[in-house]
Amino acid sequence: MNAAYRAGLLRFTDGDRLEHIDDALLVVQDGRVLDAGPAADLLPRHAHVPCTALAGRTIAPGFVDLHVHYPQLDVIASPAEGLLPWLERYTLPAEARFGDPAHARAVAAVFLDELLRNGVTTAMVYCTSHADSVDAFFETAAARRLRMVAGKSLMDRHCPDALRDDTESSLADCERLIRRWHGVDRLGYALTPRYAPACTPRQMAGAAALADAYPGVWVQTHVAENRDEIAWARALFPQARSYLDVYERAGLLRPRSVYAHCIHLDDEDRARMVACGAAAAVCPTSNLFLGSGLFDFAAAHAAGMAYGLASDVGGGTSFSPFRTMLAAYEVARLSGVNLSPEALWFRHTLGAARAVGLDAQVGNLAPGMEADFVVLDPRATPLLARRTSIASTLAEWLFALIVLGDDRAVAGCHVLGDRVTLAQDVR
Ligand SMILES: [Zn+2]
Repeated sequence: MNAAYRAGLLRFTDGDRLEHIDDALLVVQDGRVLDAGPAADLLPRHAHVPCTALAGRTIAPGFVDLHVHYPQLDVIASPAEGLLPWLERYTLPAEARFGDPAHARAVAAVFLDELLRNGVTTAMVYCTSHADSVDAFFETAAARRLRMVAGKSLMDRHCPDALRDDTESSLADCERLIRRWHGVDRLGYALTPRYAPACTPRQMAGAAALADAYPGVWVQTHVAENRDEIAWARALFPQARSYLDVYERAGLLRPRSVYAHCIHLDDEDRARMVACGAAAAVCPTSNLFLGSGLFDFAAAHAAGMAYGLASDVGGGTSFSPFRTMLAAYEVARLSGVNLSPEALWFRHTLGAARAVGLDAQVGNLAPGMEADFVVLDPRATPLLARRTSIASTLAEWLFALIVLGDDRAVAGCHVLGDRVTLAQDVR
């Protein structure tokens, strides 16, 4: 069954050039983009397709969040004196509750609704160390037909008893979860060593062996977020050249691996990430909130690092890609780097998808791609309406949305072409 939408269209052409077509047609067939382009060109050949007119709105690719923790939904907005106290006081106790599958399913449902309400249609997600928390997440994502990548947090030391897993059984759990979920519908599995201080070398080596055995799975972890954490990692792994090197020695620095934060890297670390095909998930609202530091955009660009933007909720303070893009802009400004609105948008859509090998499926609206898209309302608030109405270039219009927009600017969200109905919409 085909469906067409007539509205403005934001899309990438020629690789990463962002263009806005004021009067466009997007035609969807069986959940994929069949055709997209100027309405005047496309209407004649799709005249028979039922068309929804969305006057004054713009259709844009769904956002891609490269790093977020679903069990930390209820931890968002918890203050602490930095990463390690924050983990100890709020986050790890909250995660301990996910041994209860009913709790995990309930939180997963609210978490996914919140992502969609903010226009995020694909994410790389951490579950807890409980295998049931992963089943609960994937079941909930599958019911919504979402493209999601997730995995069980591996943590066999230096954590509360309620979260600590056993080295051998944790790896057996991962293998079972990969077989059950990886490649099913639009779901993908990510081996998820939480961070090196919480994993024994044997557990990390086991995760790398699974990544070898099951090509196509992802690896995700944290690196170089906070100076106290780095000192801890260095004390635990004195033979490693750097914190990142701990992961390389374990065989975890590889294509389809995603390293959250990457704040306190040196140039050799960056070169190793590029050489190994790894990507960074840049989490500016989290880094500012926890006082972890500022991602070095200039050094990342100089090294040619692949990276995408991420919310890192609950360390991050918002699910909104607009908030994250604004924080990335501000962090870059502090180091004298100017990120254009188009570049910010790219890093939260097609660029993020490309960094993790999903750019043939999501992140843009080209024929053959999955029809996950948002419907933007550039008049969602009085000030946004005023500012976008006087924007004279695409960059100005995008920047107004980035600075002034939030979930109110997401008038609708479509997954595989179908408009999402959120629980809060039907109250
Ligand atoms: Zn994180």
